[in-house]
Amino acid sequence: MLRSIPAFFLLLLGQMTIAQTAVPPVTFNFEKAELESHLMYLASDELGGRRTTSEGGAMAAAYIAKAFESYGVKPVPGMDGYFQNIPFNDVHPPLSGSLTLGETTFTLNENMLILKGGKLETTATAVFAGHGWVDQEAGVDDYAGLDVKGKVVFVLPGSPGAQGPMEVFEAMKDKQIIAAERGAVALFELYRLNFPWQFFKNYFGKDRLEVAREKADGGAGLVYGWLKEGTPNPVAELEKGAVMQVQFTTTGIGTKQLEAANVVGLIEGTDAVLKNEYLVLSAHYDHVGIGKEGGAPYTETDSIFNGARDNGMGTVALMAAAKELAANPPKRSVLLLACTGEEMGMLGSAWFVDNPPVPLEQMVYNLNNDGAGYNSTEHITVIGLERTNVDELLYDAAKNSGLQITGDPAPGQNLYERSDNISFARKKIPAIDVAPGITEMNEAVFQYYHQAADNPDTIDYDYLLRFSQTYTRMARMIANMEGKPAWTPGDKFED
Ligand SMILES: [Zn+2]
Repeated sequence: MLRSIPAFFLLLLGQMTIAQTAVPPVTFNFEKAELESHLMYLASDELGGRRTTSEGGAMAAAYIAKAFESYGVKPVPGMDGYFQNIPFNDVHPPLSGSLTLGETTFTLNENMLILKGGKLETTATAVFAGHGWVDQEAGVDDYAGLDVKGKVVFVLPGSPGAQGPMEVFEAMKDKQIIAAERGAVALFELYRLNFPWQFFKNYFGKDRLEVAREKADGGAGLVYGWLKEGTPNPVAELEKGAVMQVQFTTTGIGTKQLEAANVVGLIEGTDAVLKNEYLVLSAHYDHVGIGKEGGAPYTETDSIFNGARDNGMGTVALMAAAKELAANPPKRSVLLLACTGEEMGMLGSAWFVDNPPVPLEQMVYNLNNDGAGYNSTEHITVIGLERTNVDELLYDAAKNSGLQITGDPAPGQNLYERSDNISFARKKIPAIDVAPGITEMNEAVFQYYHQAADNPDTIDYDYLLRFSQTYTRMARMIANMEGKPAWTPGDKFED
């Protein structure tokens, strides 16, 4: 890590050494044994890998809330206790479905996916509608002059000029609403994207959990799916203006309403002014569950993905910080967020920032805690170094705990966008992720990452204590810092 610290930091390190002597020894009100008992419970077989909406997940949430209460952490005014309940849909793909256009028949889970919609059997007119996008401000209306009432609409993926994975994903809901509002009975996006259809199919072709949103598809009953074109390609004819009929049938998706909760707590700050600013400490407590749900090999004797490292360690560090900061509150207020749904795509933290218990503009920083395990107990890893103005404090805190900071161990893998800090960053709130020490992504990490072997009896608890102390120290220093936490000028998330 030292290798990548810019000269400016080396200079700072020099200065920090000076500052170091001034920092009084810090004590913590949590012990190793206490943290061990938390992790032994949260990552126990009894909790069955804490999958979102599972009973084990709910038991973990109850355990964390009880601990918050015992530390004197308060519920946020206006919330119903410590739980921010999130409605989920457990979505099961249709049992069967086919679409015939011209001479070509598309078959469910081969070259066709159905993501939304009930049972439908129809012969209708096919319509091609560009991207199926409408943005009056930008002067875009792909439905101008088209009558799609009672028809089946075919569109290009994403929105004009936005075909990145996230953009395509985010455009899905709006495109359904746009088509449904115009009376279409079905909408199919054409899979013309440069990432493998197999991945897409694996994700959308199996049971999945989604956050239930009121305005998911606007008009009830719109069937929504994706087609993977081949040769011959009848859609190309449609695009050229051919008038075609389509025969379409599906048994429809199955949806079951479920629920899971974020656990949220408040520690009010001591400074008359700064207490109106909130540092958000977050860690996801959910993991992937049991057996097939885990998405990795398992055995008859061990089919539970206990998630001691991911993210049992982060959750315990969050609880430790809660206990210490509740007993000795810092100047700024602290919001504690133990979120669910991270393994499903940061669904819990996205819900939190979409339904914030305090105004987003008062949330001045997010210090997320989530990791993939560790291969060094001499280090602590920070994903997002140099992206905000708190690095000096982070180095200081780590040094005082006898740990060294390492940066992103796998820059090419987009780790910054693969945990809950991203939900805050998307709202322009400066955010980073703190994780147990990884100097490189190697076997020491992979043998446990999302593996059934990630059990609590394989954890170094002396390290968990030091890791939790460092995280707590980082939190306190940011909550007490003079200036305002901020993005490094020019960061892509900077407002
Ligand atoms: Zn995680």
